[in-house]
Amino acid sequence: MKGRTVTYSPSITITVTHDCPKHCLYCGFRTDREGLISWENIEATLNNAHRFGATEVLIMSGEEVEKFPHIREQLKERGYKTFVDFVYSVCETVLENGFLPHTNIGVMTYEELARLREVNASMGLMLENVDPWVARKVQPQKNLRDRIRTLEDAGRLKIPYTSGILIGMGESVESRFESLQILADLHKQYGHLQEIIIQNYVPNRGSRLRPYPLSLEEYKELIAYSKEIMPEVAVQIPPNLNPYWLDLIEVGAEDLGGISPEGDHVNIDNPWDQITFYEEALTQKGYRLSKRLPVYAKYYQTVLSFPGKIGKYLKAFINNEP
Ligand code: SF4
Repeated sequence: MKGRTVTYSPSITITVTHDCPKHCLYCGFRTDREGLISWENIEATLNNAHRFGATEVLIMSGEEVEKFPHIREQLKERGYKTFVDFVYSVCETVLENGFLPHTNIGVMTYEELARLREVNASMGLMLENVDPWVARKVQPQKNLRDRIRTLEDAGRLKIPYTSGILIGMGESVESRFESLQILADLHKQYGHLQEIIIQNYVPNRGSRLRPYPLSLEEYKELIAYSKEIMPEVAVQIPPNLNPYWLDLIEVGAEDLGGISPEGDHVNIDNPWDQITFYEEALTQKGYRLSKRLPVYAKYYQTVLSFPGKIGKYLKAFINNEP
C-alpha cells in the first residue's frame, strides 16, 4: 500500500564479547580468546551513540560464553558472579546514558530472561531454521529445542521480542515455512513477537559455508505466508543484506531494523548506507521512513509494568515522542 510508513531504529551495537564456544559454519562473528569488552570501550561506544543520535543500543555476544574459563576468570576479576550479571550492568549503564537496550546474547534460562527484562526495552533471539540438514551440518552445537524454549520463556515473561528465520544456507524450501509456522504458533500462544526478521545468509570473512541465494519470488512467498499466519507481527528485512529489500517493502515488509553508522557487527563486510539513501529510495516509491524505539508502541504498557528500572527510562522516551 503506497503512503505506508516503513520504520527503523537508530541504533548502535555493543558486542560484550565475540567469544563463543560454538562453531556454526556460517559464522564470521565468533572468536576464542577476545575476552570481555572493557568499560572504556563501552563508554566510547556510548559517546558515539550520542553523536549519531541513536536511541537503541543492541547488546550482543556469542552464546553460552561462560563455558570459557577465561571469561569466568574475567567476570570474577570484575566482581561479577555470572555473565548475565555483567550484561545487566552494561544495560544499566546504557539506560543511565540515555539509550534503550535491546539484548540478544543467545539462549537463556527463564531466570536470566526475567532478570534482564528489568533493564531492556525488548530482547531477541533468532529461531534461525528447523531444517535437519542445517541442524546437523551447519550448526551442530545449536540446539533447536533450547531456542524454542528461550522463545517460550520470553513469551511467559511477556518480553517484547524480536525473532526470525535465517535462510539461504542450503535448507529445504518447506523448512522455511515450517520455521515461520513455529514462530506463528509461539506468537499465538504468548502474543510477544513484535517483529520477525527474514534474514538471508551472507558470508563474511571467517564464514565456512557457501550461500544459497533465494529469488525475489521466494522472498515474496515467505512474506505473504508470514503476513497470513501472523498478520500483526511486523516483517523486518535487513536492507544491508537483501538486494531486494525495496521490492519486499512493496509486498508487505514494514521494518528495516536497527541501522547504525558504525556498521553491522555480525555482517562486518556489509555496512548500512546513510539513512538518507533509504529515505530517498522509499520516498521515490511513495513510502515514508520513520524512526521507532526498540520496543513497538503496542508493547509500551507491558514494559512500563515490568519490575526494575526499565519503566522509568522508557517513560522518558515516550514523553519525548512527537
Ligand atoms: S552463530 Fe552464534 S552460536 Fe554460532 S558460532 Fe557464531 S556466535 Fe556462536
